[in-house]
Amino acid sequence: MASTNLASTETLPIEVLRRFALFSSVDDDALRALIAQCTVLTLTPEAQLLSSGVVNRHAYVLLSGTLRIHLGDVTSEPIAFVKPGEVVGELSVIDQRPTSAHVVASEVCQLLSLGERGFWQLVEMSHSFAVQLMHKLAERLRANNTAVVENTMLREQFEKAALYDALTSIHNRRWLDETLPRLLSRHRHAHRPLSVGLIDVDHFKRFNDDHGHEAGDEVLKAVAKTLQDKLRPTDLVARYGGEEFVLILPDTDLPGAHCAAERLRKAVETTTVTTPSGDALPSVTISMGLSRMEAEHDPAQLLKACDQALYRAKDNGRNRIECAPTSASLALDPPGRITVDGV
Ligand code: GH3
Ligand code: MG
Ligand code: MG
Repeated sequence: MASTNLASTETLPIEVLRRFALFSSVDDDALRALIAQCTVLTLTPEAQLLSSGVVNRHAYVLLSGTLRIHLGDVTSEPIAFVKPGEVVGELSVIDQRPTSAHVVASEVCQLLSLGERGFWQLVEMSHSFAVQLMHKLAERLRANNTAVVENTMLREQFEKAALYDALTSIHNRRWLDETLPRLLSRHRHAHRPLSVGLIDVDHFKRFNDDHGHEAGDEVLKAVAKTLQDKLRPTDLVARYGGEEFVLILPDTDLPGAHCAAERLRKAVETTTVTTPSGDALPSVTISMGLSRMEAEHDPAQLLKACDQALYRAKDNGRNRIECAPTSASLALDPPGRITVDGV
């Protein structure tokens, strides 16, 4: 088990301290005064010197060995290692606040333990020590700033990855679930039209069976790219799952949406795909169910209306677009029976 042991520093030669930048220009008198005030502490491997959240009244200069710094508990990944000549614990001596990290010996360590009084005496006695200490604190601040920037960039990358589909690189279902409700309420409040399309690749199981799953993946990538390239910049597309995609057409009523959907259907039909090894693959077709946002639609109801229209597109022969009935096209004919335009 870890243990610590204190010893007097009477025998510590000042040359030992001189090796370290922190003390290199401190004059002999100040160093002797320092040594007289200090104790040397020996830590066995895994002994914990400082604990996060606990009051600390000592600054420690590492004379030999290596210390680990942990922000979480001591079993978490260390955020830094401390080498001889470095100082730990000085922040809580300076700001009188509890320690903000755990400090653990990685191997046998020897440390110079400097109490609060001795620490401030040394700062007063030696301008050089104070300057070196500021250098060390500045170094640490800069390292922390760099870590913050790197963490922010990493977090942004993760957030981005969470909203994009790994295979096709277009938006994914999670993005759709976050975005569609916002777009619906924004368009509803502004009394602006919005249309949505649910796209499904035709006979895709057969395509996979005939050409293999990898070829199927290439086709899905190509379909996603075609959809994205042929849309207006304000229109949006996401992979809904499997071989299904969702289009969102802001400020677009059903006739305009149908026109855009036809353009996409034709573009997919004529998209040629080759495997990474250069083999040409037959093109695929898509079917689509379109609906405009109705007064009563929440996102799930709007997608359900698209899904029902998609079913009809499949039933009616595939490679085609069907529209959900709009409320204006519902009429009573004959009395008591609801019919839909064109059906
Ligand atoms: P339909 O015209 O009625 O839509 O027929 P379908 O075969 O496309 O429909 P079904 O839902 O029976 O099959 C969908 C297929 O899509 C089955 C599944 O293997 C394939 N699929 C789903 N996700 C992926 C994927 O990420 N990569 C590949 N290669 N295939 C996928
Ligand atoms: Mg499907
Ligand atoms: Mg399908």
